[in-house]
Amino acid sequence: MPNPDRFPSLRGKAAALILPALLSAFVPALAPAQPVGLPDLGDSAAQELSPRLEQRLGDAIMVEARRDPTYVDDAELTQYLTGIAQQLSAKAPADTPEIRIFPVRDSSINAFAMPGGYIGVHTGLVVATQNESELAGVMAHEIGHVVQRHIARGMVQQKQDTLIMVAALLAALVAARGNSQAPEAALAFGQAAAINSQLGFSRGAEREADRTGFQMLEGAGYNVNGMASFFGRLMQTSGLNESTSQAFTRTHPLSIERMSDMQNRARSVAIHDKANSQDYYFVRAKMRMLQAASGQEALDAIRYFESRAAETEGIERAAAYYGAAIGWMRQRNFAKAEEAYQAATSGARSHFMLARLAVDLALARNDANQAVTLARDAYARWPEQRALALAVAESLQRAGRHAEVVDFLKEQTLKWGDEPRFYQMAATSYSRLGRAVEERRNMAEFYAMTGALPAAVEQLQQARSASKDFYEQSQIDAKVRELQRREREERDLLKRFGG
Ligand SMILES: [Zn+2]
Repeated sequence: MPNPDRFPSLRGKAAALILPALLSAFVPALAPAQPVGLPDLGDSAAQELSPRLEQRLGDAIMVEARRDPTYVDDAELTQYLTGIAQQLSAKAPADTPEIRIFPVRDSSINAFAMPGGYIGVHTGLVVATQNESELAGVMAHEIGHVVQRHIARGMVQQKQDTLIMVAALLAALVAARGNSQAPEAALAFGQAAAINSQLGFSRGAEREADRTGFQMLEGAGYNVNGMASFFGRLMQTSGLNESTSQAFTRTHPLSIERMSDMQNRARSVAIHDKANSQDYYFVRAKMRMLQAASGQEALDAIRYFESRAAETEGIERAAAYYGAAIGWMRQRNFAKAEEAYQAATSGARSHFMLARLAVDLALARNDANQAVTLARDAYARWPEQRALALAVAESLQRAGRHAEVVDFLKEQTLKWGDEPRFYQMAATSYSRLGRAVEERRNMAEFYAMTGALPAAVEQLQQARSASKDFYEQSQIDAKVRELQRREREERDLLKRFGG
């Protein structure tokens, strides 16, 4: 369950501002289309970011973003959004960076592309959509910025007064890369919040992202009116034209012209009336609950769900009860949560997010062994859901069955590959089993995967001192050398970039 009352609302918006700010600083003029190697501050006018540098920069920013209180580490939400992104980008050009979506706990309506194919989606955006095609429409627009490489091409509105702040941000990032414990590490991401909030992409970039996004939306079989209907509502709510009152319209200026382009495009193709997935309803409910910033807001959200449950039926009603259930869980009213869960599953309704909730309810009752059974059954039924793999590991861990945890996680790391939390959880269980070398090596893997290379090296060095096995020691040495090489490369890259 998310921690309820402990996050500043400003930070999530920061990332939205990093990107355009970086671009305007390092690619001051509209750049030519060919990559021309590494730019530096002194001679950047005719250059654009190389894909490799853009990727490294994105990775570096994400190391900080993951520590931000508004970053949402939730396998259900991430996998859902990533699934939509994959459908949309299925036919994107081969040189498009891998699109990686992360949810941001923020009730304002926004989504933003960062260097390296990372896209943040505010919970408030998902909550404000009326159907899945609208959500896909906004995501398609963001992916359009990535596909068109607007970041590297520097297609942003010009604002001179950001230069100094961006230089400071980069200096902080470079410092942070050198030492993961440095206070600058935490500073770097938040610092961007101070960057002029009026920055956004250029009008030309917005048009390109609309056009590319539209093609992806159509190709993936979504209702192409989704884009225009959502943007249209945004424009109305933020006061017709070019308003600055909404986060999204601030960084992606809307205009009457853009709107009519979207509508014209939609008229030129056949409209698919794509039904919402069941996941959409549950994800939207979870995000609404997640973004409640106080106990009072949580109660308000619960009231909202209860009234929705009373006036809807079918999947909408089930999702409303689901929202109420996770709200009561958060309020630690487990009896009410159980009641809402029962209502959500009435009529033998099943969904993997309801199954995950049943595991959490069992854990709340301190019935960890029951939670293990529920989680294993659910994972057997929905083996494509990473959240259920995590549920199995978590409940085994709560049951104190650490030997089973490490066996299970060994299989899962082979299956999923890129889930840092599996390594973090394995480290915890190895620690309980008194196996210090494996504990450190798994923590090292966790840090390496989240980009915190110095911390990873430190863990490996501790593992090496704890190891008595010559073969194991040389394995660790090889890994340390590899990480140190990566660290040097990244630091050099960022230093050349930061000047
Ligand atoms: Zn845009």
